[in-house]
Amino acid sequence: MNVEQIYRDANALLEGHFKLSSGNHSQFYLQSAKVLEDPKTAKLLAEALAEQIKNSGIKVDAVCSPALGGLIAGFALATALDVRFIFAERVDGEMTIRRGFEVQEGENYIICEDIITTGGSALEAAKQVENDGGNIVAYAALANRGFCSREGSNSEAKDNCKLPLDKPLYALEDFTFEMYSPEDCPLCKDGSVAYKPGSRGN
Ligand code: ZN
Repeated sequence: MNVEQIYRDANALLEGHFKLSSGNHSQFYLQSAKVLEDPKTAKLLAEALAEQIKNSGIKVDAVCSPALGGLIAGFALATALDVRFIFAERVDGEMTIRRGFEVQEGENYIICEDIITTGGSALEAAKQVENDGGNIVAYAALANRGFCSREGSNSEAKDNCKLPLDKPLYALEDFTFEMYSPEDCPLCKDGSVAYKPGSRGN
């Protein structure tokens, strides 16, 4: 499966001059919502991810995703694994599990995102599951931005990866493109202006 090509075909891997939420600039931007716009593609990707997890032999009772970004990927993964799906959401900035979802003592959870960048939201969701008595057995994402190390890849986790190193991360692809501080951005030096993805209606 050529995940990068699937992202390109769905216009989910954008090329240009982008201002990321971190303030850094990049020539590429991943818009995973676009790749999940087609339910058939979402199903295909989630089944490939589920295959990796099944092959690992870990026992999974449920998937939990941080809203909003992880919802579709997490739901599709739970469908492919045939387990329950719950989500955590921010209330006044704090990640919480609401809506009557109950984490049972000792249940095994996978935390699923669409993209793992540094894994901050995934870790916050994991802490909520653990607070309620659940076990985190793995993290999962369709795409890994290359700060954390996924199973089957030789690249090491960078210092800014927030995910615990003793838990596996399953992802379909590494997207490790360069980021630049605005002062050092070669695209800015060439005279173009960075824009924030989404600010022009996409
Ligand atoms: Zn720039």
